[in-house]
Amino acid sequence: MPVLRRYLPYLLLWILASPILALVALRRGFRAARFFGTASRTRTVCECGEEVALVALWRCSCGFTYRGHLLRVCPICFSLPAMVRCYECGLTTKLPDPR
Ligand SMILES: [Zn+2]
Ligand SMILES: [Zn+2]
Repeated sequence: MPVLRRYLPYLLLWILASPILALVALRRGFRAARFFGTASRTRTVCECGEEVALVALWRCSCGFTYRGHLLRVCPICFSLPAMVRCYECGLTTKLPDPR
């Protein structure tokens, strides 16, 4: 069985790696679901209890200013906002990272 002998190492590697790949895929799915949850809401809650609007006028660190939802990729520098600041107490809340 030369064919089996040739593909046996790959089969063993796939069997050994599949639980790790499944965990990585599960983690990615969980992060994507958390990101989608925040991206579909119009406001989030700060530690102080105050609601922080996610749909407003925003300025990217590159200077691009836009109106709409905070969680969107900047068309100039292609960055995604990582945090939002509360206008009541000044604390920042980390936003979920889809990666
Ligand atoms: Zn930008
Ligand atoms: Zn606050």
